[in-house]
Amino acid sequence: MKDWIYNYRFVLMFLLLFGSTFKGYAVNNKNSKPKKVLMVGGGSSHDFERWYKGEDLQLINSMQGISAFYTDNTDSIKFYLKDIDLLILTNNQPISKESQQAIEKYVAKGGPLILMHAALWYNWNDWPKYNTELVGGGSTSHETFQLFKNLVVNPVHPITAGVASQFDFKDELYRHVPEPNSLGLDVLVIGESLETGKVYPVVFTVNHSKSKIVGITLGHDEHSHLSPDYKKIVRNSVEWIFK
Ligand SMILES: [Zn+2]
Repeated sequence: MKDWIYNYRFVLMFLLLFGSTFKGYAVNNKNSKPKKVLMVGGGSSHDFERWYKGEDLQLINSMQGISAFYTDNTDSIKFYLKDIDLLILTNNQPISKESQQAIEKYVAKGGPLILMHAALWYNWNDWPKYNTELVGGGSTSHETFQLFKNLVVNPVHPITAGVASQFDFKDELYRHVPEPNSLGLDVLVIGESLETGKVYPVVFTVNHSKSKIVGITLGHDEHSHLSPDYKKIVRNSVEWIFK
């Protein structure tokens, strides 16, 4: 009986001391350094300031234990990479040779990546490794901007936890084609065009020998960025990276 009381007191004391640490989700212990996240945007056809810097970055920054910052200066990537825990590429503009090499080095050492919308295109003729190794493929076109169905095909993955089994909004459905020479994708959500009936992966992880990589082809404008399911996928992706 005495032992039981002693243990009970010990548990109570432990909860009083450390209980607050376990409230809600945290990617980090309160006492450890925040995880640094760099989001890179900028380029044509999209309002990066409003929807990536203004919306997605704020969402990520609201997560406990995260300190996220944004740049549209792709030449500066190489200076930041030594000091960050997660790189998010959304950019629709070129990356200098030096920063391309720095990204390759960062990923080879296990540095994680989230690639969003424009960054999943076949953009860089001077950097084929980007698509074969980091994107696991890419797009060269998209279905007409339209309301289409997003269907969760892997509901047990942490990235789709709490996401509706079907969620619809207007967006560009990228015709993402996996690269035959890549290690393959683990597809979590597919998009189905209501015009053509064709399906394409819209949320996936890219198999890589060292790094955790997430691809989200969604995100053209406010229709996706303000969707609760899109937001959930972005948060879950960051949480999965730091698990
Ligand atoms: Zn777009």
